Amino acid sequence: MTDRVTEALARFAVECAARDHAWCAGEDGCAEALAEHRATVATDAMAASFDVSKELLVYGGAWPDQTWSTTALLKLVETEAVEPPYRDPRRRILRVTTALARLGERGLPPDAVIRTCLGPTLIRQIIIHVASVWVLAREGRLPREKLGMLEAWLAALDGEPALGGVDEPTLPDAVAAAINGETARVAQRWLRSASMAHILGWRLDGYVETDLHEADLTLPAGAGATSWVVDRFTETYLDQWSRESLDWELVYLQDPRATAERVGVPLPLLEERPLTQRQVVDALSRRLSGAVGNDPVAQGLRTEEIVHAIVGLVRGDQLDAAHELAARAARNAPDNPHLCNVLAFCLIPTDRPSAHRALDRLDGVRDPRAQGTAAMNRATLFLADGDADQAEQAMAAVPDDGQIWCWDPVAMVRGEALLLGTTYADWRARASVALEQLRSRSAG
Ligand SMILES: [Zn+2]
Repeated sequence: MTDRVTEALARFAVECAARDHAWCAGEDGCAEALAEHRATVATDAMAASFDVSKELLVYGGAWPDQTWSTTALLKLVETEAVEPPYRDPRRRILRVTTALARLGERGLPPDAVIRTCLGPTLIRQIIIHVASVWVLAREGRLPREKLGMLEAWLAALDGEPALGGVDEPTLPDAVAAAINGETARVAQRWLRSASMAHILGWRLDGYVETDLHEADLTLPAGAGATSWVVDRFTETYLDQWSRESLDWELVYLQDPRATAERVGVPLPLLEERPLTQRQVVDALSRRLSGAVGNDPVAQGLRTEEIVHAIVGLVRGDQLDAAHELAARAARNAPDNPHLCNVLAFCLIPTDRPSAHRALDRLDGVRDPRAQGTAAMNRATLFLADGDADQAEQAMAAVPDDGQIWCWDPVAMVRGEALLLGTTYADWRARASVALEQLRSRSAG
């Protein structure tokens, strides 16, 4: 579809040429104006459709190398660096350090990415994860000896005085004690001084110390500017960026070359992701109206971090612990639609009636991302129920764009829960296959 300004400029250029460029004084200004406007429209379209997760999916399970885009490298680091060290930790550490090395060659210091930008999230992630398994182990529902790689973290929680006087500490108790206690201080020192491999492996006992300088920890323009670079290549939605990142983006759009120089990264690296001033201003205005924001729900934990922790447990085959954490988080913040969704997600393989009840609570929810996830969960649940008509109806409300964790719909109709990290588009394709199988099964 052509916009009206393009149409008008095109008509103007034709008429101007027919008059021997009398209107633009013979300097080709008519054609230039048209070309410039077309370029702006193209940039706007690219900016609107840019999706960091899609960038990473392009490379699939391939090994990160210099052919990868900066977006894909950073997204890989962000996704895999905060994973609990259960499954094939050596391969994961090697993948992340390889990606970090490629980023380092492009001017993004690995220590700044991991310790400054992703570090606080990593520590909160570790604390939620360790606190949840600590509570389960204490209640005798998870054998502690099976959690060997977390032993030093669990021991740090054992030593928290704030938990000493509590009879039956809950997850919020444990998280609060860790965040306000010695565990968080130990974690800060560890994040600041442990070797990269030991950070990525969550290794606390006997970690190797590295010698770091202040200059390794940020780009020359400081921590806020470093977070901006990481935000723009790891978060598609500007609502997820820090406020300071939005400020940097505005300054950058005003003068890209000078800003790249000031921040200390090559301009071509920043040019990989196109953004428009309008996107930034819209994000700032949504933030001012209070309509969005990833605010902490409890003990300084953000919804997204809790969701990450739950997905980490599911990926580590700890569905019971994941469900437990989701149920407690949802009880803590009953009006939070994302936590309700993730609870329903955990319930789908084990307790379908309860999953239905959790999803019913999401009827009429207004957050568009929560709506999309709820529709997908509902469709998956109906597939598991063997109800093709209801599944198809729910599928209609599933969005087209975006990256998700889901149960494989095809496996779900076989009664098997198989976790997939993919796109909504891929999910839809699989759900259609599942639907067909379900219908041919009930016809036959
Ligand atoms: Zn002309």
